[in-house]
Amino acid sequence: MKRSFFTDEHLAFREAVRRFAETEIVPHHAEWERQGRMPREVWLKAGSMGLLCCDVPEEYGGPGGDWLHSVIVLEELWRLGLSGPGSGFLVQTDIVASYIRTWGTEAQKQQWLPRMARGEVVGAIGMSEPSGGSDLQNITTRADRSGNEYVINGQKIFITNGMVCDLLILAAKTDREGRKNGISLVLVEADRAGFVKGRALDKIGTHAQDTAELFFDNVRVPVSNLLGQEGHGFRMLMTKLAQERLAQAVRSTTVCEAALDWTVAYTRDRKAFGTTLSEFQNTQFVLAQLSAETTSLRVFTDWCIARFLEGELSPIDAAKIKLLSTELQGKVVDQCLQLFGGYGYMREYPIARAFVDSRLTRIGGGSIEIMKQIIGRSLFADPARDGATPRRQSHDGTR
Ligand SMILES: Cc1cc2nc3c(=O)[nH]c(=O)nc-3n(C[C@H](O)[C@H](O)[C@H](O)COP(=O)(O)OP(=O)(O)OC[C@H]3O[C@@H](n4cnc5c(N)ncnc54)[C@H](O)[C@@H]3O)c2cc1C
Repeated sequence: MKRSFFTDEHLAFREAVRRFAETEIVPHHAEWERQGRMPREVWLKAGSMGLLCCDVPEEYGGPGGDWLHSVIVLEELWRLGLSGPGSGFLVQTDIVASYIRTWGTEAQKQQWLPRMARGEVVGAIGMSEPSGGSDLQNITTRADRSGNEYVINGQKIFITNGMVCDLLILAAKTDREGRKNGISLVLVEADRAGFVKGRALDKIGTHAQDTAELFFDNVRVPVSNLLGQEGHGFRMLMTKLAQERLAQAVRSTTVCEAALDWTVAYTRDRKAFGTTLSEFQNTQFVLAQLSAETTSLRVFTDWCIARFLEGELSPIDAAKIKLLSTELQGKVVDQCLQLFGGYGYMREYPIARAFVDSRLTRIGGGSIEIMKQIIGRSLFADPARDGATPRRQSHDGTR
């Protein structure tokens, strides 16, 4: 399918990203999976190739591209099943750099964006806490004002890039009584006294990307580390979550397409009962169904990308694409794995890794239940629907 928003320059960039992924990442990824993280070297190399913070302008030390360059990086990494950079770079580019670009002061942008684009600084975002990730309004980590400083106490969990991060965007309560209006975002450098990185969490998938617990024990940061306005954190998170969810949909859609390609290639070669698996009607029907659904997802994903580029992607549509893309991803990798038989259960096959890596997408960045809640509420909040209710007419024609 021709994707008309990509220019020739984007296509050349895609070729460069593909070469980089094949030569600099693929040969090492299994080792990083064993180590549970990626070395800093790969961040630096990716930075030098313009793969990080793609849409950060040159005046802030970025490559000066647009969001489609980020889309290309995600697609090329996930097409090869590279979960380490696939997850880590997404947080760096589409979350941390994006927040700083949108809400940072000039000094914050100058301080962090050039180093993030070069891969010298790795970013993370800390929203989720042990007591809950879905219910963000009830976080308990506090940033209490003391003179010209915030004093931070609390704990975060499940933080992508948590072990390797140099900079964290922390969601904390600056007003203990306030719910969503009491939340602020604070930039916390990882070398601040009292900022402790706990254990790297033992996950079922995405092994090359580290996920950590973080602790804050009277961590002091200057008030100039506040990102945006005090008390506006929840609103900022909700605004940017649309971009994060679309980025996740880009990932999920790409994984669906890649899994189908792997499975078509495998079943074409694999023999059983004197023929190839691809000759069985069941194989063709399963793949036909998944292919049709993936094509429909691709159309919706690209529609959302186009809306996003126009600044028109609503949080509701972002929730819809995250819901549908992550659910289909789960279905595709499961049914494709089945067609690999026992080999599908072996980690050396990309379909096996995609199967476990994919389980996360229905949970992280807002679970599918929360997506349904967002969509469901919007249906009943729309006054334009009032009066559209079909009513049963009584026998004499009155209501
Ligand atoms: C590998 C990984 C990486 C992550 N990276 C980050 C990160 O970088 N930064 C970060 O801040 N967080 C991160 N997370 C956390 C992730 O965003 C949360 O796990 C997610 O938001 C769900 O929160 P929870 O785990 O506390 O589940 P809970 O909130 O306890 O929810 C448990 C279940 O209950 C359901 N549920 C909750 N509320 C409702 C409701 N109102 N109605 C119906 N069902 C509901 C949920 O959908 C879910 O199925 C990561 C998680 C993982 C596993």
